Amino acid sequence: MKTLIIALQKDGKLVPASFELIEVAKSLGGEVTTVVLAENAEALAGELAQRGGGQVLAVSSHELKYFNDEIYVNVLSSLISKHTPDLVLGPATFYGKSLVSRLAARNGAPMASDVSNVSRNGDDVVVARSHYGGSVISNVVRNSDKPFLVTVRPKIYPESKDGDGRVVVETVDASLLQSKMVVKELKIEATGAVSLTEADIIVSAGRGMKGPEHLPIVRELADVLGAAFGASRAIVDAGWIPYSHQVGQTGKTVNPKLYVAVGISGAIQHLVGMRTSGTIVAVNKDKDAPIFNIANYGIVGDAFEIVPALTRKFKQELAT
Ligand SMILES: Cc1cc2nc3c(=O)[nH]c(=O)nc-3n(C[C@H](O)[C@H](O)[C@H](O)COP(=O)(O)OP(=O)(O)OC[C@H]3O[C@@H](n4cnc5c(N)ncnc54)[C@H](O)[C@@H]3O)c2cc1C
Repeated sequence: MKTLIIALQKDGKLVPASFELIEVAKSLGGEVTTVVLAENAEALAGELAQRGGGQVLAVSSHELKYFNDEIYVNVLSSLISKHTPDLVLGPATFYGKSLVSRLAARNGAPMASDVSNVSRNGDDVVVARSHYGGSVISNVVRNSDKPFLVTVRPKIYPESKDGDGRVVVETVDASLLQSKMVVKELKIEATGAVSLTEADIIVSAGRGMKGPEHLPIVRELADVLGAAFGASRAIVDAGWIPYSHQVGQTGKTVNPKLYVAVGISGAIQHLVGMRTSGTIVAVNKDKDAPIFNIANYGIVGDAFEIVPALTRKFKQELAT
């Protein structure tokens, strides 16, 4: 079986989910190829090779510096035709989902998105997808001889630390690097620099914080913990914080080791996006709030007192 891993980079650094995909491919056995597209892809390819990425294809071009669906799909489609993988793995991140679905459409290939497990049953690759907020899990196989395109939810598999690998420099036809869209600059948001889908710790705020002027109280806790800053839809809709922070059914699906929900009631649409988190801590003044049904630790009380106290305590602990 041949697996092709799409390793994504942002700002010239590999996205950690790329190393998780190597672990997935290693668990399946067979031939592993990894591809990385970047302005200078060779150093990144070297890192992937050291982590067990197998044959690592480095494609370098100025046009590949920033993520661009159109160009990335052109290049990856040509590499799929050349290397004929059975399985193509990408991360179920914001860019990964956008890219792999476009790639599936371009290649007329079957796709499964945001899977939580990938295994083999003889020659078949079987992927697990969850539905209805994790209440139903379906096992999906491809029914086509086209490559099976799959995005894997980050933070489920560990990162591959080592293994076999060698770098192969690939050149692609310049016509593939054309796009109607030119990305000139990437500005990282000054706040919330940690990506939600890849964060080990997320601290999220909800309408219980009363207004945008109070969000810094929660953000300070997030900063002390080195956490990404999440939000309920209520406060996104109210314009307190950009949509990129929203967790839930119509926001991001996250899977951190620790999720702290502050002033969030725990509506089902929020829970489906975070219920698989390792440990859930909820701060809410209503002891009957539904969030406490799934929280491992619940603090019943006023977030305006509890959150600053937690921040102070963590600051002290981390300073010693
Ligand atoms: C189709 C659809 C899709 C949706 N998608 C999403 C989604 O992706 N993500 C999402 O989050 N929601 C989503 N929603 C909205 C969802 O149903 C809820 O309305 C929303 O999650 C509520 O946000 P909240 O918990 O911040 O606010 P509320 O439900 O108003 O909860 C506020 C909580 O704060 C507590 N509180 C108040 N004051 C304090 C205090 N001083 N200290 C501590 N606690 C306090 C209250 O007890 C309450 O539990 C969706 C809804 C629909 C219909």
